Amino acid sequence: MPIRSEVFGTRADGSPVELYTLTNAAGLEARVMTYGGTLVSLRVPDRAGRFGDVVLGFDNLRPYLAKHPYFGSLIGRYANRIAGGRFTLDGRQYALPCNDGPNHLHGGPHGLHTVMWRAHAEDDASAQLVLSYCSHDGEEGYPGNLDVEVRYTLTDANELRLDYKAATDAPTVVNLTNHAYFNLAGQGTILEHVLQVHASRYVPLDPKRIPLGVLAPVAGTPFDFTTPQRLAARIHDAHEQLRIGPGYDHCWVLDKRAGEMTVAAELVDPASGRVMSVRTTQPGLQVYSGNFLDGTLRGKGGVAYPTHAGMCLETQHLPDSPNQQAFPSTRLASGDVFQHTTIYGFITRS
Ligand code: BGC
Repeated sequence: MPIRSEVFGTRADGSPVELYTLTNAAGLEARVMTYGGTLVSLRVPDRAGRFGDVVLGFDNLRPYLAKHPYFGSLIGRYANRIAGGRFTLDGRQYALPCNDGPNHLHGGPHGLHTVMWRAHAEDDASAQLVLSYCSHDGEEGYPGNLDVEVRYTLTDANELRLDYKAATDAPTVVNLTNHAYFNLAGQGTILEHVLQVHASRYVPLDPKRIPLGVLAPVAGTPFDFTTPQRLAARIHDAHEQLRIGPGYDHCWVLDKRAGEMTVAAELVDPASGRVMSVRTTQPGLQVYSGNFLDGTLRGKGGVAYPTHAGMCLETQHLPDSPNQQAFPSTRLASGDVFQHTTIYGFITRS
């Protein structure tokens, strides 16, 4: 399947940023750029066959180079928060830059969302773009030289598949994800989207959004998406955890065995009929309902993005795992390979 590439723009130092366009037999189209390994657009049909872009972002490179809320970015080395920007590994203390109040968020200010990835296109059975990056020992405070590879595949089964791989030459911690904001209507907010999450527990947070260390049952709370629920249904409930969000900004603990590929979530836009399923080998799903978008950012087509203009479904390990003994380990030893897969599948429903 064909892959096109073009220059999306140039960085301050004059170096070009490439934009790759992946298409499949049904005409679905994903565009990914080398800066931040960013998913720039994703065009899928509605129930009438009309194509629409279902991820938030910008029309050109410049606003991506400025600080933005991780639109479509690859996130690492550690997605989500690490309390106080500190952790201990094999008896050694590490300090990471704090870029979210007192905490470290999404790999730090110069995390993988800001680096130039090497790209290699393969177009045999499906359109595939292989991105790679070597993060050096000490980069953003993390130990070990880390070789990261993320493979974007657009399949003829109308799936966008992300295969993540990483290897290190010294013990380290790793948690990789993609931070795309989905809006299956291609406009407005996600409040009328219907979400199902296959998780009976979630990770409650303290006011700085650091895990309290326990897992809480979703049953009987606004966090219960075990059956499909409108996002709007309970997002404004007077629940302490929703005040902390404010809204949904929490990690759900998927009901599965470690490493198993299962359906994590399904997101439906009843108006357009677009349905997205999320399958993953990861243990957690961070559901972020775009709470900090506030109408000041103008995205594609010059349209301002209001609160809840899009939502992230970030497959990942649980937040702050390096400091949380009870959570699945995010330690990566030299000789071991970090490997995870997430598949976003698209269908329509009448
Ligand atoms: C986090 C939010 C954060 C957002 C930044 C999400 O993954 O959970 O707390 O504000 O990223 O865009």
